[in-house]
Amino acid sequence: MEIIHVSAECYPVAKAGGLGDVVGALPKYQCKAGHIAKVVMPMYRTKFLYENEWTVDFKGSANLGSWFFEFTIIKEATNKLGFDLFLVDINGLLDRQKIYGYDDDSERFTAFQIAVMRWMSSWEHQPDVVHCHDHHAGLIPFMMRYCYDFKNLAGVPSVFTIHNAQYQGWMGWDKSRYIPRWDLWKRGMLEWADSINPLASAVKCATSVTTVSHSYMEELRFNSNGLEKLFDYERGKCLGILNGIDNEVWDPETDKYLADHFSVKKVTAGKQKNKEALCEAFSLDPAKPLFVFIGRLVGEKAAEILPDAIMSSIHYTEGAACFLVLGSGDTSVEWRFQQMTEPYKGSFNAVIGYDETLSHKMYAGADFLLMPSRVEPCGLNQMYAMRYGTVPVVRSTGGLQDTVSDMGEPDGFGIRFNHATVADVEYSIGRGIAVYRDKEQMEKMRKHMMQVDHSWESTVDEYTAVYESLR
Ligand code: ADP
Repeated sequence: MEIIHVSAECYPVAKAGGLGDVVGALPKYQCKAGHIAKVVMPMYRTKFLYENEWTVDFKGSANLGSWFFEFTIIKEATNKLGFDLFLVDINGLLDRQKIYGYDDDSERFTAFQIAVMRWMSSWEHQPDVVHCHDHHAGLIPFMMRYCYDFKNLAGVPSVFTIHNAQYQGWMGWDKSRYIPRWDLWKRGMLEWADSINPLASAVKCATSVTTVSHSYMEELRFNSNGLEKLFDYERGKCLGILNGIDNEVWDPETDKYLADHFSVKKVTAGKQKNKEALCEAFSLDPAKPLFVFIGRLVGEKAAEILPDAIMSSIHYTEGAACFLVLGSGDTSVEWRFQQMTEPYKGSFNAVIGYDETLSHKMYAGADFLLMPSRVEPCGLNQMYAMRYGTVPVVRSTGGLQDTVSDMGEPDGFGIRFNHATVADVEYSIGRGIAVYRDKEQMEKMRKHMMQVDHSWESTVDEYTAVYESLR
C-alpha cells in the first residue's frame, strides 16, 4: 500500500514531542513491512535541512484567502530515514526555526495543508491512504471530501491519528476563506462550538480515527477539552493503537550518546557507569537513588507539582535521593526549578531547555523516571525508560496505565499512583527509595521491563488492518 503521512513533526527532522518520534518511526517500519510509506511535512529551517541532500519534486502555487503564494516540495535524496521524506517550503510562513508558537500558526499550517493537497491532486495515480497526524493536518480529510479542486482525492480513505487532543487548532470563521473553494453546505463538518476546529473536523471527516492508546481513546469520551460529545458520537470509527518505540534509536547496547553500553544481562553495572557520569556532570551523589523528569513543563504533565514534591521528599528523607529535571515550558515552573538548584545543590539539578543527547543519558543513568501526568495519550518516556532499565513512576492514566504495571502486582516493575498531587508523588518517591535498597528486587524489575516488547512491528500490523478495512 502507498501511505502518505502528513505531519508537523518527524524525528530527526523536527521534533517537539512524541508526535515527532512516532512519525519518524512508523513509516520506517511500514516500509520494512513492504508498504510504500512517505512523509510530508513543513520545511522548517532545522539542522537536518542543511546537512542533507535534496531534489526538487514539485513546484506549485495556491491562494490563502487573497494572499497568493508559491511553494516548492523537495525530497530527501538518499532515503536516509528508511522512507521518502518530502518538505514543503513556503517562504514567509514555514521558513522558521521553531515548529510552533507563532501568532500566524493558523495561516502557516493551513497553507501547508493546501500545498500538500495541490501536490497530491496533481499525481496521475492516487495513494491508498492519506494518514494525517494531529490538528496541523486536520483540515486535510475535509479538503479531500469537500473542496471542488481536489475531487480526484474524494474517494481516497483518510486516517486521522490523535496524538494530543488538548490542542485543536481553533480558528475564527473569518479564516474559512483560506480553505480552497468548498461545498458551503458542509460548514458543519468544519465547526465545533462556533469556530473552525481542525481536530474536530478531522474526527468528523476522516474515514477512520485512531489514537495512541486504548485507555486514552476511552478517556476522550469524558475528557477531551470540549470534544467529549463528538468522541462519544463518533466512537464507532475510533480505535486505540498503542505506539511503539524505535528500538534502533533507543537501544542501550548501541546508543551513541551513552557513557557505557549495556544489555539486559549487564544492566546493573551498565546503568551504574552511566549514572556516575551523569551525577558527576550535575554534582549529584551516585550512591543515592536518582529520580529524573524529562518533558514539557506544562499542566498536562503536572510539572508544577514537582518542585514541591521534590523539595518535601528531600526534606523528609533527609536527602536520601537525588533529582534531575530536563524540560521547558511554563516560565513559572522553569523559574521555580532554577531557584531550587542553588539551595538544593548536591540533591537537585535542572536543565531548562530541550536536549536530545542529555535525555538519552538520563534514561540510561537514572534509577526512576517521574511521570505524574494529568493527561498522557500514550507517553513514550516511560517506554524508553523501561528499555533502559529505569523504573517508571507514573500516574495511572492513558497510555501510562496501559504500559506500566505496579511492582506490587505479580511481575510488576513500576510504581503507579492515582492522583496528580504532591502527596501522591512524594509517597511514590518514598516507595522508590525503599525498593532501591533491595538490590535483588531492583535487578529483577529492570531485567523484566527491558524485555517488554514495545517494538513497532506489531503496531504496524494494527495500522495495516485499519487501512485494509477502509479499502
Ligand atoms: P509529549 O509528546 O506529550 O511531549 P511523549 O511522552 O509522547 O510526550 O514524548 C515526549 C518525547 O519528547 C520523548 O522522546 C522525550 O524524550 C522528548 N522530550 C520531551 N522534552 C524533552 C527535552 N526537554 N529534552 C529532550 N527530549 C525531550
